[in-house]
Amino acid sequence: KKFTQFKISNSILQALEGLGYTEPTEVQQKVVPVALEKNDVTVKSQTGSGKTAAFGIPICELVEWEENKPQALILTPTRELADQVKEDITNIGRFKRIKAAAVYGKHPFAYQQAELKQKCHVVVGTPGRVLDHIERGTMQLERIEFLVLDEADEMLNMGFIEQVEAIIGKIPEHRTTMLFSATLPEHIISLQKKYMTDPQYIEI
Ligand code: AMP
Repeated sequence: KKFTQFKISNSILQALEGLGYTEPTEVQQKVVPVALEKNDVTVKSQTGSGKTAAFGIPICELVEWEENKPQALILTPTRELADQVKEDITNIGRFKRIKAAAVYGKHPFAYQQAELKQKCHVVVGTPGRVLDHIERGTMQLERIEFLVLDEADEMLNMGFIEQVEAIIGKIPEHRTTMLFSATLPEHIISLQKKYMTDPQYIEI
């Protein structure tokens, strides 16, 4: 199996080659085509499976470069993961000049505010700080088309559920939602029922 089997642009293919990704991992094989069709998807998989590129590739392919407001929002449980995801998205979108910003707590608000004011296609962040930016009007949501809940079970374990729900409630309903989780406790299933539309279920 090759990345060329997907309906993705040369700029993305080139970036994957540069990263040394010669063939898609299992999670990428299953998730990328579904996300490229803008269908919702729930994915049960472990970290290390290549899940970041599984959502990063379709997001980088589908965002419109000309649009200045954020088109994708990725929520992560930790600052470290937010930075990692931002880096991966930046690498995958390198030749399309995709801009990603990371926002999280214990880091200057004003700096992040400045980053969000510039052209920014993808925002990655932890729920508390993302909600803070939304409530202070420093992050615009009206163009968001992709929402990713990364390591959703960890976000629940860390007590972020109310913030996650508050954020989802403010995002346009016409969107593609992707939920990634190592485990699927009842809370996650109810999130899925409440906020996703006919999600395809993928288990790795
Ligand atoms: P993740 O599960 O997203 O944290 O990815 C785990 C590791 O696999 C990261 O170091 C990625 O850079 C790497 N990776 C992701 N996709 C591929 C691929 N298709 N081929 C080789 N390495 C990959």
